[in-house]
Amino acid sequence: MSDPAAVPPGARPATPKFELHVHLEGTVEPVTLLGLARRNGLRLPADTVAGLEKMYRFTSLDQFINAWIQTTNCLRTAEDFRQITVEYIGRVVALGWPPMSRPSSRPQSGLKDGDRAR
Ligand SMILES: [Zn+2]
Repeated sequence: MSDPAAVPPGARPATPKFELHVHLEGTVEPVTLLGLARRNGLRLPADTVAGLEKMYRFTSLDQFINAWIQTTNCLRTAEDFRQITVEYIGRVVALGWPPMSRPSSRPQSGLKDGDRAR
């Protein structure tokens, strides 16, 4: 019986993947963005996951900037950043990608130097 994890002859082994650099704002899933907006009493251009998925499928710089602004505007508290960090790390670990770099972000409001998510 053959080893199911063995790489067949001639096939390339799976290439290990990892992220060298990531902005936390870019990791926010639509369902999370909806929750953040609700929690912070904010409105988004769409109020469904499908609607926000459309917003995330940008085809121009203007659309990308709009999606980035809509997302960062919903990140208001240390808890918001804690949530998106935990969710991002969970997804990366589930994919088997070691988190290689410290996620970066630029808090837009509500956070001061020294604030820490718990
Ligand atoms: Zn960057």
